[in-house]
Amino acid sequence: MFQAKCTPKVELRKKGIFDDFIYSNMNGRIDLHTHSLLSDGELLPSEIARRACVLGHEAVAITDHIDASNINTIEYLIDAVSDVNENWDIQVIPGAEITHAPIEIIDKLAVKARRLGAEIIVVHGETIVEPVIKGTNRAALESSEVDILAHPGLIGYDEAEMARDNDIALEITARSGHCLANGHVASVAMETKTSLVINTDTHHPTDLISYEMAYQVGLGAGIPEKELKKILEDNPRSILERNGIKI
Ligand SMILES: [Zn+2]
Ligand SMILES: [Zn+2]
Repeated sequence: MFQAKCTPKVELRKKGIFDDFIYSNMNGRIDLHTHSLLSDGELLPSEIARRACVLGHEAVAITDHIDASNINTIEYLIDAVSDVNENWDIQVIPGAEITHAPIEIIDKLAVKARRLGAEIIVVHGETIVEPVIKGTNRAALESSEVDILAHPGLIGYDEAEMARDNDIALEITARSGHCLANGHVASVAMETKTSLVINTDTHHPTDLISYEMAYQVGLGAGIPEKELKKILEDNPRSILERNGIKI
């Protein structure tokens, strides 16, 4: 069957950022946190997929904000994602981001989202730029259904250790505002040996970023270069693999 090809990484190379060794070992970009117009994003799921494809992504998760009012939109997302996955050379993963929910029901929503077909579960963490209720980070880290705690703000060492022990990744984000705590998140995660991922939290057409830009966001957060391949490739891949998603 004809499969529309994504832009090969060689066309995306920006001189000066990577040496030849890093470049020749580099794989595609994986972003596990984006929003479509099923919540407050501007793009249809198909346009997120198309733009991700053009930017050299191997995989992109669409993780619209949910609470009990709109959790059933996951079924529409799954229809759109199936159309793309059958026809284009990119893996689009249906997911959900539990957002500003009472902390008492975070696990219940995660279980329900999973049952409806969400394959990646993100929780909207305690970013310093929104009044996210205190205790959200901890409730997310106690749920066995959660894959990623997004923009966890001024997360404590004890919580980072919970993330490590429960196999939940903490997020370094390219999103303005939320990114103000990236340096703190990176340093706590590195000291506690907790997994990190670098996502965009895309809402607008130009929010998706290339592998190169994600690499620079990581450097900007204070992550050493030798850790970045693992954070950009191995960590998101292992989240996908344990959810049965092959890329
Ligand atoms: Zn949003
Ligand atoms: Zn988000």
